[in-house]
Amino acid sequence: MKLRVLGCSGAEFPGHHPSAFLIDGCLLLDGGTIGAVLDEEDQWLIKDILITHPHLDHIRGIPLLADNIVIKGLSGQVNVIGTAETLGALSSHLMNGLIWPDFTKIPTPENPVLRFREIAPGSEFAVGDYRVTACRVNHTVPAVAYRIEGGGSSLLYTGDTGPCAPLWEMAGHLSALVIEVSFPNELEELASMTGHLTPLLLQKELKKLPAPPGRILITHLKPQYYDQITAQLAALGLAGVEVMRDGDVYEL
Ligand SMILES: [Zn+2]
Ligand SMILES: [Zn+2]
Repeated sequence: MKLRVLGCSGAEFPGHHPSAFLIDGCLLLDGGTIGAVLDEEDQWLIKDILITHPHLDHIRGIPLLADNIVIKGLSGQVNVIGTAETLGALSSHLMNGLIWPDFTKIPTPENPVLRFREIAPGSEFAVGDYRVTACRVNHTVPAVAYRIEGGGSSLLYTGDTGPCAPLWEMAGHLSALVIEVSFPNELEELASMTGHLTPLLLQKELKKLPAPPGRILITHLKPQYYDQITAQLAALGLAGVEVMRDGDVYEL
């Protein structure tokens, strides 16, 4: 499994794009950054997008991707996968014909550029050659993590979450864990209020894991606190922890 970081930031600045991770060129985890870094041909190769939750920094590349595909005259290209709450939010508040066209009916309702696929947390489902399971996590809106298995590797992507016990019950053996740390330790109160983690909260979560993952890849840092968070993570000396950067590629 090849994991390419399109964006792994908890905000937006030059060189710091919002969350999106491309697996093997075809399966996207969250859609916060697509056209800002992928050229046209690479955008067409995306077949499925797993969305963790409807916050803008995790979905905002999707409407523009749909437009790019339609402009090229292609259709029926991309499955947008998420819970009923997430897909409902996209329909009601984003691709509602006002903020953006409803690309689940364009160019035709029979053969649209985006197909919404609703999934239920807790049950395994297939996405191409991958086996995927969603698990509810602790955030300010309904949100899930995804466990993805394929090619002999297993990856758990948490999306945005505060401390969350059910997540670790479904972790099993992992080649890699992609987990967020948004704030430094000093802002634990804010992190708890907004459903995010600090380095110390991460340390507590990792102790709940049944087995240590091969790699622990940290995402969603607020760039304003980047140096503080990375220094605090380093001071904890947690085995296997690496802070991701936009553009990184991992062989898992
Ligand atoms: Zn969020
Ligand atoms: Zn976020």
